[in-house]
Amino acid sequence: QTPKKPPPPPSPLRFSKFFQSNMRILVTGGAGFIGSHLVDKLMENEKNEVIVADNYFTGSKDNLRKWIGHPRFELIRHDVTEPLLVEVDQIYHLACPASPIFYKYNPVKSQSNMPAYVLQQTIKTNVIGTLNMLGLAKRVGARILLTSTSEVYGDPLVHPQPETYWGNVNPIGVRSCYDEGKRVAETLMFDYHRQHGIEIRIARIFNTYGPRMNIDDGRVVSNFIAQAIRGEPLTVQAPGTQTRSFCYVSDMVNGLIRLMEGENTGPINIGNPGEFTMIELAETVKELINPHVEIKMVENTPDDPRQRKPDITKAKELLEWEPKIKLRDGLPLMEEDFRQRLGVPK
Ligand code: NAD
Ligand code: UDP
Ligand code: UDP
Repeated sequence: QTPKKPPPPPSPLRFSKFFQSNMRILVTGGAGFIGSHLVDKLMENEKNEVIVADNYFTGSKDNLRKWIGHPRFELIRHDVTEPLLVEVDQIYHLACPASPIFYKYNPVKSQSNMPAYVLQQTIKTNVIGTLNMLGLAKRVGARILLTSTSEVYGDPLVHPQPETYWGNVNPIGVRSCYDEGKRVAETLMFDYHRQHGIEIRIARIFNTYGPRMNIDDGRVVSNFIAQAIRGEPLTVQAPGTQTRSFCYVSDMVNGLIRLMEGENTGPINIGNPGEFTMIELAETVKELINPHVEIKMVENTPDDPRQRKPDITKAKELLEWEPKIKLRDGLPLMEEDFRQRLGVPK
């Protein structure tokens, strides 16, 4: 007699449906810049319970201070490279050291001084961390969203970048732990989707800025704003004609939630197509924040992409989403937060 096969699990095996409770949402990296703004938005909905798992590597409890002690909120110190057992319906997987200070902040010394720990941590988080979150999603039947990056396009030979472009990435360069790490994370997401039927969402995030960015993490917008407030020269890395497209964090968070709630797996570009050279950005910060600072050209880091601008046709069509806040309106919105943290009132 052949043994009877067990019935297939209800799909998706949603925790909230099972226990008739609120929607339980895990945000990995929720103590970071984008993660904490996402938590703020998710907590606005009284049906949501939010769990943050973060190892505080680049994030901080301070970003979540208003939620600590709230009955619908839970904060866990946890490194996603270790297995995590929680029961949730959705996972926003953001955990990743996103600002490679050690190879961006001090461009001259960076290569010889790059601590191996940071690079290992970045690649491990992207690969093992994503694998663990997929294992978790599989066990509990949760939908999982990965915040991938425009860096998967590398130094792009197609401009602007549509999702169909496979990219031009150096696999052995100083950025590879980040961009190749995210490429592997995307691969894992699709393999789990095809093999185990996991509901996945992949956002390819383009440069994002706003309050709570790390002040000294070396990203260009936070550098320029902090420099302008401190009255220091704005350090444009040569040649200064390289471009980026900057998205304000509230637009980004709305895009991520749209993607999670919609029916498309992605990958979908989420970013603001307004494109600026670094010289234009420096001039704008100077004009808006401190007209007295000087703009100084400094050495660049290796493998710096020369241009970057999202093609957001897919996001517009499939998510009915597009960014609303222009750079000139967004920059002043960060000024007060930076002044407070730097202790330099207006
Ligand atoms: P962030 O550094 O502020 O946040 C990342 C968070 O992840 C931090 O709180 C950090 O402590 C946490 N973290 C790192 N490694 C971890 C680990 N192993 N276990 C648990 N927590 C860990 O960065 P962000 O700008 O908020 O970026 C969030 C996500 O968006 C990242 O996945 C990043 O790759 C992606 N992204 C950001 C941008 C951008 O412009 N900010 C652009 C593209 C993609
Ligand atoms: N995992 C986790 N939480 C869970 C379930 C799994 O962190 O609730 C981790 C698990 O430790 C494993 C990874 O996710 O390392 C992948 O899990 P999966 O079940 O897909 O693979 P397997 O354990 O069979 O290799
Ligand atoms: N950049 C700059 N001055 C700085 C920091 C960065 O001109 O003080 C430039 C950098 O060379 C790059 C761009 O700004 O061309 C964006 O760098 P960032 O590290 O913010 O993001 P990413 O390179 O990941 O897009």
